[in-house]
Amino acid sequence: MKTNIIIIGAGPGGIFSAYELIKLRPDLKITVIEAGNPLHKRKCPIDGKKIKSCINCKPCSIMNGFGGAGAFSDGKYNITNQFGGTLYEYIGKQQAIDLMYYVDKINLAYGGEGTKLYTTANTSIKKLCLQNSLHLLDASVRHLGTDVNYIVLENLYNELKDKVEFIFNDPVKKVEKADGLFRVTTEKGEQFEAEKCIISAGRSGSAWMESVCKDLNIPTNSNRVDIGVRVELPAALFAHLTDELYESKIIYRTEKYGDLVRTFCMNPKGAVVSENTNGIVTVNGHSYEDPKLQTENTNFALLVAKHFSEPFKDSNGYGESIARLSNMLGGGVIIQRFGDLVTGHRSTANRINESFTVPTLAATPGDLSLVMPKRILDGIIEMIYALDKIAPGTANDDTLLYGVEVKFYNMEVSLDEHLETKHSGLFVIGDCSGITHSLSHASASGVHVARHICETL
Ligand SMILES: Cc1cc2nc3c(=O)[nH]c(=O)nc-3n(C[C@H](O)[C@H](O)[C@H](O)COP(=O)(O)OP(=O)(O)OC[C@H]3O[C@@H](n4cnc5c(N)ncnc54)[C@H](O)[C@@H]3O)c2cc1C
Repeated sequence: MKTNIIIIGAGPGGIFSAYELIKLRPDLKITVIEAGNPLHKRKCPIDGKKIKSCINCKPCSIMNGFGGAGAFSDGKYNITNQFGGTLYEYIGKQQAIDLMYYVDKINLAYGGEGTKLYTTANTSIKKLCLQNSLHLLDASVRHLGTDVNYIVLENLYNELKDKVEFIFNDPVKKVEKADGLFRVTTEKGEQFEAEKCIISAGRSGSAWMESVCKDLNIPTNSNRVDIGVRVELPAALFAHLTDELYESKIIYRTEKYGDLVRTFCMNPKGAVVSENTNGIVTVNGHSYEDPKLQTENTNFALLVAKHFSEPFKDSNGYGESIARLSNMLGGGVIIQRFGDLVTGHRSTANRINESFTVPTLAATPGDLSLVMPKRILDGIIEMIYALDKIAPGTANDDTLLYGVEVKFYNMEVSLDEHLETKHSGLFVIGDCSGITHSLSHASASGVHVARHICETL
């Protein structure tokens, strides 16, 4: 089937490239091919009763389908160049920020109106952090919340569905060059040909993206992996930070090894959830904007970045092995009280039941020191004590740690300033490019490529 532009993947990257293309050139025929389901059919079967842990559905409703990996996320839309990706290295700092604000405006127009934009500008928390060897990164963050994020996606789909051709439930198998066009073949055997092709397959498409780069001889670089735990504690302990900033991205350099440990994905009054990436169960978190759906706890990750180069290059493989070990010992996610960890005890169901902090995820009580490398765990423990100085109570015995949390990053695809590969007309955007790791950077990369395509057509 001939079409003008093929977009592979309907996550934020794919959605915003389709949105911008149709806005600028309504005459174009655009085909979006998505491995997962439409939004309304995405339903994770884990209900905490009959199905308590991941049963490896294909496609996984959390990671795949319209809205991509972020569909059921907390919808924290971070407007910053300090984290969330390195898009600015390709397109310039101001351009990256302008595009993030542009997407934020669209999100507001499609259902996000009324949600709050938090900012670190002029906050006294920055000084408090510095006084305790902690470093607060600058950002503005729009918190859509899992509920409003869903509404925005629903409205965007309704806007696009009659203007763009969507193919769901049919992963792309192959991308080839044929007579000046790109030929895309799906698992169901459908073939599409177009002059331009945008790949936005996200983190779940990382292995497939690697095979595309191999087939088309596109150079790549290995990337890092982040390993750590999710911390859960009473929301009141972090309220002075989360009420003002919602999410604070804080970095700490450990005294013992000089490693950097950072907070990631803070969810005030949120819930801890399990996540399945290619059959490996790890931990994550989210929270709702609606007060009725909020919990008594706040959760956030503490992560350490690892980057391997020689002789071992497979950073993601290293992270996967640690996650597999935790899955082997715990059957999924492991939970441990901080007090048990530092005194060398395995947490038991009894100890967890007696904890004053009530867990929001039913995980297996266990011992994280049997899973996490010592250097990483030592760094995390050190940072918990450092955070205790700006948020007293963080290092309480009943603080809950869930493991493991692993952030896999795609290898970096070699791209120019238009996010175009060495094959003219083939673009790679969003998380599968290895240069974005967030809703804002992925969406912005989609708009950037769409505008460039419209200029060159
Ligand atoms: C639980 C969770 C919570 C998160 N919370 C936040 C948050 O609050 N803030 C934030 O900034 N980021 C968050 N993130 C990260 C954020 O969701 C991603 O950075 C973002 O979704 C990346 O967008 P993308 O379009 O590049 O890829 P994705 O969103 O991963 O979308 C890629 C799409 O491509 C499809 N696909 C893959 N392979 C193929 C193929 N071969 N053929 C066809 N389709 C394919 C997938 O099914 C998927 O739908 C969260 C992620 C998760 C998992």
